[in-house]
Amino acid sequence: MAKGRVSFQADRCKACGLCVEFCPKGVLGFDNHTINTMGYHPVILLDTDGCTGCGICGLMCPDLVIQVEKE
Ligand code: SF4
Ligand code: SF4
Repeated sequence: MAKGRVSFQADRCKACGLCVEFCPKGVLGFDNHTINTMGYHPVILLDTDGCTGCGICGLMCPDLVIQVEKE
């Protein structure tokens, strides 16, 4: 299965959860150990092997936080 690489501009994440909800693989979640400059727990990739690079998270994010590359 295709693999993806996902990167985040963490300080722009407002933790709305849209990307987490719509990821078909369920591999996104909030980083409870980090607080960004806006005071939120930013989204991270919880399972690097589980991402297919489908790009849905990047499309869903209203704040252009997520960049997806397909490997
Ligand atoms: S690219 Fe697809 S599989 Fe990977 S984290 Fe985003 S929505 Fe999930
Ligand atoms: S959709 Fe964007 S702003 Fe919302 S939680 Fe995901 S990365 Fe953060």
